Amino acid sequence: MIIFHNKSKLSHHIDELKAKGNSIGFVPTMGALHNGHLSLVKKGLSQNDIVVVSIFVNPTQFDNKEDLEKYPRTLDADTALLKTVCDKKIIVYAPTIKDIYQDAIESQKFTFNGLEHEMEGAFRDGHFDGVGTIVKRLFEIVQPNAAYFGEKDFQQLQIIKKLVELHKIPVKIIGCAIHRAKDGLAMSSRNTRLTKEQRDVAPFIYKTLKTAKAKFGTKSAKYVTEWVEKQFKKEPLLDLEYFIIADKTTLKPVKRKSTKKIYRAFIAVYAGDIRLIDNIALN
Ligand code: AMP
Repeated sequence: MIIFHNKSKLSHHIDELKAKGNSIGFVPTMGALHNGHLSLVKKGLSQNDIVVVSIFVNPTQFDNKEDLEKYPRTLDADTALLKTVCDKKIIVYAPTIKDIYQDAIESQKFTFNGLEHEMEGAFRDGHFDGVGTIVKRLFEIVQPNAAYFGEKDFQQLQIIKKLVELHKIPVKIIGCAIHRAKDGLAMSSRNTRLTKEQRDVAPFIYKTLKTAKAKFGTKSAKYVTEWVEKQFKKEPLLDLEYFIIADKTTLKPVKRKSTKKIYRAFIAVYAGDIRLIDNIALN
């Protein structure tokens, strides 16, 4: 497995691979890899000759300095884990901050037809400008045929689809199902920071989402939302930031339920200072 830290060398290598007729899949990550990331890599390998995995904790998408500082950085373990999937067809790009941002660590400003104002956009100031900046830059460097994103960050996935549409970037965006631990907790790099007590209660998030989905079959969005809020009040280790039922495509919160629309429920929860997100298809 080749590991690049420098964008020019990576681009040159990819140019050579493409000239020989290889298709390139791309999985952008912030590292601390787990089976959720690996599911994206495996899907990429099943559809492409080569998969590039970027590992870069992108400073511009963090609105919270402490979260950025505490974000796990485990490059050696990450590359070892990737080797268990495939040694020959995976390329790792682990750039320095300078390789991506030179001397100005700042975001480009984006609009994504309003998608950027909902949920994560409303609660994490500047987050999607940071995501748009890094993903656009990585697409320019890697020039992949297809890129793989998890539904775990469903809003991000919709925003990336909008990014390539609005900026006419020739890459196919593939969404991948949420990978969960056996007890239902959505896998996340941040899970490693949970204490044992927090980890024990964290599956409550998905359990509540599943019950909310069942209730949404017969009850209004308002009823289900209030029910979820009540459940979290009973759970002292988990602090609900938001639970929102929204249209899957526009991400606008539902006002009046329509049988013609497809809805998803989105949730953000704090366990101490660790922020966990999840979502579920409702109909
Ligand atoms: P991250 O390293 O958290 O930025 O995630 C990199 C990519 O992996 C993103 O497209 C995430 O949506 C995806 N991802 C993270 N966790 C999961 C999961 N549990 N299941 C599926 N995809 C995931």
